[in-house]
Amino acid sequence: MTTLFISDLHLHPSRPAILACFLRFLEQQQGRAEAIYILGDLFEAWIGDDDPEPDYASVRTGLRRCVSAGTPVYVMRGNRDFLIGERFGDETGCGLIEDPTRIELYGVPTLLMHGDSLCTDDRDYQVTRSRLRDPHWQRRVLALPVAERQVLASQARELSMLSNQSKDEHIMDVNQDEVLRIIREYGVDLLIHGHTHRPAAHRLRLGERQVTRIDLGDWYSAGTALVVDPDGWRRLELGCDR
Ligand code: MN
Repeated sequence: MTTLFISDLHLHPSRPAILACFLRFLEQQQGRAEAIYILGDLFEAWIGDDDPEPDYASVRTGLRRCVSAGTPVYVMRGNRDFLIGERFGDETGCGLIEDPTRIELYGVPTLLMHGDSLCTDDRDYQVTRSRLRDPHWQRRVLALPVAERQVLASQARELSMLSNQSKDEHIMDVNQDEVLRIIREYGVDLLIHGHTHRPAAHRLRLGERQVTRIDLGDWYSAGTALVVDPDGWRRLELGCDR
């Protein structure tokens, strides 16, 4: 049995090949994998669970089939799809999980995060993050008509792209002290996260202990998943013909 971790698919109608790739991935894994964890930014943008976009209806159907086939799917909200709500959970059968979530992974205490909260060097972003996570602000936005929310989402994407272009590379990566702090706080041996789009495994010293941070990759050009079983972990690369 295996447990799979993915993040940063950034699904969007403008990227049909990646969308198809994800649906194929679900079909291949349903009933086979023990569980699938999606650690944020499944969607490029999420304006609310009432979005009528047909491509997202097929994603919901795919997830529902996977769960019905006996493979539970857990979804963590990322900085793009932080408006995923209870209705999405009901319609897909996916379990919505908090950021961070601590699990026992074949006996290894493991912390799951999206990863954006680890980028503490990016102060501007952390200010924006706390505003976007404010329940009052979220309720106000969700009360707007779908069309207005679509405009807001595309403006937000443009703003984010512009501001990221002017930032140094290291500012948008995780802060090492924050990584060690959270690993110590939760007492885990393994941290799995996404967000930075820098797939790598980092071995870290924490006093006497050796701990591991695994950064998942994004799905911009191809699909990628972290596969964990009782013997260890490996990466699964999925070809997505564009
Ligand atoms: Mn992200």
